[in-house]
This record gives sequence, C-alpha cells and structure tokens, in this order.
Amino acid sequence: MRIFREPARLQKWARRQKLAGRKIALVPTMGYLHEGHLSLIETARAKGADEIVVSVFVNPVQFCPGEDYEKYPRDEKADLAKCRAAGATAVFFPTPANMYLDRHSVYVEEDDLSKGLCGARRPGHFRGVCTVVAKLFNLAHPDFAVFGQKDYQQAQVIRRMVRDLNFDLQIVVAPIVREPSGLARSSRNTYLSESEREKALAISRGLFALKGEAAKAPGGLPARSSLARLAKSLSRAGLEVDYVECVDAETLEPSSRVCKGSCVLVAAYDGRTRLIDNVLV
Ligand code: AMP
Repeated sequence: MRIFREPARLQKWARRQKLAGRKIALVPTMGYLHEGHLSLIETARAKGADEIVVSVFVNPVQFCPGEDYEKYPRDEKADLAKCRAAGATAVFFPTPANMYLDRHSVYVEEDDLSKGLCGARRPGHFRGVCTVVAKLFNLAHPDFAVFGQKDYQQAQVIRRMVRDLNFDLQIVVAPIVREPSGLARSSRNTYLSESEREKALAISRGLFALKGEAAKAPGGLPARSSLARLAKSLSRAGLEVDYVECVDAETLEPSSRVCKGSCVLVAAYDGRTRLIDNVLV
C-alpha cells in the first residue's frame, strides 16, 4: 500500500495509473476510520477498482468557528493498518498547509442543495466540502468516488458538483453502517459517554419507527405531525434537536408527506456532540 503526503506525488502516480488503463476509486474521509468507512473501501473493490485511494484529511475549511476541528479524533497509525487490512492500495495523508497554500483563494460553492439542512446550520460547511473534494478529484483522477449515505446531503451536493462542473467520474453512494444497537457509526461517537450512547439510540429508533409506519400507510404520512412526534421523542430522550426534516430525496425540497421517495433526516446534539442520521423511505 502506498502512502502519499504530497499532493503532487499522488497526482503524478494517479496519472500514471490512469494512463496504464487502471480503474481508480477514491474514498474521501476525515480518518479515525470505522466500519462505515471500511464498507466504502469494500464497495470500491466490489465495483472493480484496480486502485483504491483512501484520503484521510481533517479538512479545516469545512469546520465552522467553534466546531470540533481541533479536537476531532485522529489516529494515523490505526488508520493505516485499517486501510491496509481493508484492501486500500494507496492512502493520502496531506497536511492543511500542503492542501491550502499560502493565500489560497479559490473555493467551490454549490448554491441549491446545500442551502438547507446541515448547510443552514453550518454556514460555509459545504463550500469547504466541495472545495476539498474537487481538489481530491483533481489529485487522484478517480473513475469513481465512494461516499456514505450517512452524510446524505453531502452525497447529493457532491453529485451536483460533479454534474455541474463536468467532473469525468461517477459517484457511488453506499448504505449507512450501524452498530448492532442501530446507532449510525461515526468517528464522533468516540465523544459519547455510556449514558450519551444510550440517549443517541433514540435517533435511529425514531427514524426506523417512522419509516416503518410510513411504509404501511397508503400514500405515506403527513410530514408535519410525524416530524413533530419524532422531534418530541428525541427531546424526551434528552437530545437537543438541531433539525428534523423530511425532504424529497432528489431535490432536498421539503416534502409534505413522509412517503416513498422522501428522506427523513435528523441532526441532534447529544451533550456537546452533534449527531446526524437519516432514512430513505
Ligand atoms: P467522515 O470521515 O465522517 O467525513 O466520512 C467519510 C465518508 O464515510 C463519508 O462519505 C461518509 O458519509 C462515510 N461514512 C461515515 N460514516 C458512515 C457510516 N456509518 N456508514 C457508511 N458511510 C459512512
């Protein structure tokens, strides 16, 4: 497994692989890898990639002031071992200084899908995500890139960026990997105490319950009352709701019904930890 730290080195190597006709997959991550990330590597392999490049970069530009950029968990050694065991063929570990050169001044901004949900609560977040992902695409020359449904809005925003900026690659979205309890796996789960973990279960339980009910009701359920009930169950569990929304799964426009083709998304604070989860109905 190759390890790159210099963007130019990765780019040169990737160009060579491409010229040799090898199929490159990119799996962008912020590290502190867990089974959710590893499932993306597995998906890349299943889709026939010859080279699987995992990028591990806590991207400062996508964090808002006051968020957890400094304390975001990092463990380079463990990440390398996990990448190797999962079958990655290259890992890219850049530093902020070599990704964002002095006076970096060009950013990519998506102006539609990133307006609501996490985009509304985390101003500048998707600008940071789009910018770093665009850079990674230019460095790793992937034939396809794998993202997780866990960050549903992010995957949709990236798809739109690829379409609108004519990136010559495909986006693959892999399902959410959960702990046996139902909790969506996340690097941020490491922040949770035992009692916070218990509280967090209300999120997946509430989402699954709503999805189940909506699937049984002909034409689905009215969104307003269903979301109010879901929000109440989260508050009762001791979580602070950031948002609970039901949107059209393609356009991310608010949907008046929880029904086929909609996506219900939750962001909630469990103590100081912000957790997100979603279900496709
Ligand atoms: P992160 O390191 O949290 O920025 O995530 C990197 C990639 O892994 C993103 O595409 C995420 O959507 C994906 N990912 C994170 N957690 C999960 C999970 N539990 N299941 C599937 N994909 C995930």
